[in-house]
Amino acid sequence: MRFVSTRGGTPPTGIDAALIAGLAPDGGLYVPERIPAFAPSTTQTASPSLAATATEALAPFFVDSSLRERLPALCARAYDFDAPLVPMRGHGDHLLELFHGPTAAFKDYAARFLAECLSALRAPDAPVTTILVATSGDTGAAVAGAFHRRPGFEVVILYPDGRVSPRQAHGLECWGDNVRTFRVDGSFDDCQRMAKTALSDRDLRERMALTSANSISLGRLLPQLAYYAHTARNFFAQHGTVLNLIVPTGNLGNAAAALLAKRMGFPIGDLVLATNANDVLPRFFAGGDYAPEATKATLANAMDVGAPSNFERLRHWHADDAALRAAVSAHAVDDATIRTTIAIAPERHGIVPCPHTACGLHVLDNLRAQGDTRPWAVVATAHPAKFDSIVEPLVRHGVEVPPALADCLARPAYGEALTADDAALRERLLSR
Ligand SMILES: *Cc1c(COP(=O)(O)O)cnc(C)c1O
Repeated sequence: MRFVSTRGGTPPTGIDAALIAGLAPDGGLYVPERIPAFAPSTTQTASPSLAATATEALAPFFVDSSLRERLPALCARAYDFDAPLVPMRGHGDHLLELFHGPTAAFKDYAARFLAECLSALRAPDAPVTTILVATSGDTGAAVAGAFHRRPGFEVVILYPDGRVSPRQAHGLECWGDNVRTFRVDGSFDDCQRMAKTALSDRDLRERMALTSANSISLGRLLPQLAYYAHTARNFFAQHGTVLNLIVPTGNLGNAAAALLAKRMGFPIGDLVLATNANDVLPRFFAGGDYAPEATKATLANAMDVGAPSNFERLRHWHADDAALRAAVSAHAVDDATIRTTIAIAPERHGIVPCPHTACGLHVLDNLRAQGDTRPWAVVATAHPAKFDSIVEPLVRHGVEVPPALADCLARPAYGEALTADDAALRERLLSR
């Protein structure tokens, strides 16, 4: 199994090289040369654990990898916390809880799998690799957590000061050791620009082994297949019917994995995306042009994306835009609706959602109001306790903090301030 670029400008490459590179050399995104297909004997039967499903679902991508024999062990370590599908109050309504990892958001799964792969691929005498990530919230924490104290790696995080929730900020700063966190006096776009400038700085890259781990990396996309494959096959085994999915989305990483799992034959029905007020995708799926925009700040900050990078992958997988529009639909949810959805969720659904999950819940509410009676799962992308300052006043009670997040909040913060300046970052990178 080889991997090609969505832009078609580079020769096919093996998975080991693609995992290390992250982005294809022509600036495109890596995609598998063909989408492997599974027989119903796999996709419709129950699986004992998420790690077992992950191993099965990822195996076709790793057939030619030096990691092939180690895949079960890598999966056992990366997927060592569950992704439970929990029934909600309404008939056929479910929540797929992806927030039981160390940093309480779904990005833990992919970050941990990527860390396992990069560790296993690393030569023992290789120089220390610095992983540079610009983050608007959850990616940075997940990558920091996954690489914390991992020999041979250093993590540098850039996040926009004051633009993430206070608990998200602490989750980015609570690591120390081989993790350096900079709160940048600027926007997320500044952070991204600074990371891009550093990653394309030849002189800098000659002086240090610098790489990224952002959501377009192949090693972030593939591991997200596992929880969709696992949930869909166990649901089918139990109920004899497909599960329909609502995925809150910004950069389309998690949603691209859901689509891939469906194309591989796992019993996923309709796939509906929920965005915040950044409505580039809903406008495209309603028939408009794909027209990226400046990012708007919303309550669901991890989905504040005006130009979803993974859109390239979705286009690559479909013959034309009409075929893509037939496969997926999308709806935008504004801040006022996020607020009311959170406020009524305890009574209507028996749960407390984070602002991202609330976008998905609202889409479900609309489907039910239109008379849809099929089984649906809303993907819960983060734990509500991470967004207590938004959620608690709306539901009028405290939200219990999960143990891993409590651990992180109890540790000291090691963040350093940084001006939004390319040269300032370069100097700090070289000063280590
Ligand atoms: C990253 C993130 C999203 C958006 O995921 P994409 O893969 O970028 O679409 C949604 N919710 C939370 C909590 C996130 O951290």
